[in-house]
Amino acid sequence: MLNADFFRRWMTVTAVSVDREAERLTELDSPIGDADHGSNLQRGFTAVTAALEKEAPDTPGAVLALAGRQLISTVGGASGPLYGTLLRRTGKALGDAPEVTGEQLTDALRTGVDAVMALGGAAPGDKTMIDALVPAVDALAESFAAAKSAAEEGAVATTPLQARKGRASYLGERSIGHQDPGATSSALLIAALVEAAGE
Ligand code: ADP
Ligand code: MG
Repeated sequence: MLNADFFRRWMTVTAVSVDREAERLTELDSPIGDADHGSNLQRGFTAVTAALEKEAPDTPGAVLALAGRQLISTVGGASGPLYGTLLRRTGKALGDAPEVTGEQLTDALRTGVDAVMALGGAAPGDKTMIDALVPAVDALAESFAAAKSAAEEGAVATTPLQARKGRASYLGERSIGHQDPGATSSALLIAALVEAAGE
């Protein structure tokens, strides 16, 4: 069973990975964006960890709802509302249970990813975070490790794609040949599940 501590660890491990990889995320956002993805998420997840320490929410759903709200209010870029929606909707789907199963997390995360697709209008293959998140959720039924691999493969697989959503889509064919920054940060988020579980 996964309790609030596990979800807090998921968020803090993500914050540490985002800090470590911020420069790389911003570099990926240079040729096909505006070079702010790393700093956007750094600001967002710093606010998430601070809020979690201050408010100490005691259910999985409340942890993710608080994290999502922080991302929406602190990240200026497109990714803030999208990641914020992902975490808020996933948290809402988990309800107020003190502990949830892996299966419940998988179902909730699918609801969250669907909400991101509804908000941003992106489908798989559009060269966005969705290209890492959808395969991750599909693999989550197997294990956290399988989801991590699927997300990382999904992120790498965005390289030959032409962007059809977000800032990168303004470049048309010139977006081809670059890995999507948001798919790369989504792979960090999913990889953090493995570490949070102590696997
Ligand atoms: P901005 O594009 O506003 O500068 P960021 O640089 O923080 O925001 O985030 C860019 C990332 O957001 C992209 O790499 C992409 O993965 C994701 N993204 C942008 N628009 C969408 C969308 N409509 N749907 C899903 N993901 C999107
Ligand atoms: Mg950007």
